[in-house]
Amino acid sequence: MHDQKHFSDISSKVHRLELIYEQLSRNYPTFDQTDDPWMTNGLSSTPFRCLVSVCLSTMTITPRAVKACVPLFERVSNFEELLALDDEALRTIIKPVAHYNRKTTNLKIMCQQILQDFGGRIPDTHQDLMKLQGVGRKVADIMMNFIFHEDTIAVDTHVLRVLNRLDIVHTSVAEAAADQINGITPAHYKRHAHEWLIQHGMQACTARRPRCGACCISELCSYR
Ligand code: SF4
Repeated sequence: MHDQKHFSDISSKVHRLELIYEQLSRNYPTFDQTDDPWMTNGLSSTPFRCLVSVCLSTMTITPRAVKACVPLFERVSNFEELLALDDEALRTIIKPVAHYNRKTTNLKIMCQQILQDFGGRIPDTHQDLMKLQGVGRKVADIMMNFIFHEDTIAVDTHVLRVLNRLDIVHTSVAEAAADQINGITPAHYKRHAHEWLIQHGMQACTARRPRCGACCISELCSYR
């Protein structure tokens, strides 16, 4: 009896999630169709740029990440050049991002790891990506989705907030939410789910004042 109820809860949640994705996909473009400064400034235009940008963007809003990445990518275009860049010069260039001191150290160690342990190539599994200095679950998930085209939903602060408000997950731990949402999202929505959820979190379901009155999925949400 208990198992049947559990199954029915999961299946109704999956059904509601399908309806949510259907609405989001109608209301938001995929990242490659947006004029988001991340895309227009080519922050993910090569695997090297993508990994470095995503690492620099943690705890940082996009405009600040762009402000650091654009001049950085005018100076360096691969891991050898980044490793060769003087620490002080790197620190100065990436100053717009949060924790730029720690990120300077992490980037240098990450370059050494990629060059020495992975033959100069970015590892293509979650497990190996997370061996890199400064790379956690979210960065690894984004790399697997953006660069290695694995259908994985990365959970950042926006996605986590939206999923909790929608009553799809009940956790403040991003890794736990990532496990749950990846487990119940239908395969055909996984490729772009992160992109829709993050846009919804930034444009409608904002942290301080969600715009529930104008929300395209308000009928599927009990948070008010
Ligand atoms: S109804 Fe409000 S809380 Fe729910 S998803 Fe929309 S904006 Fe977020």
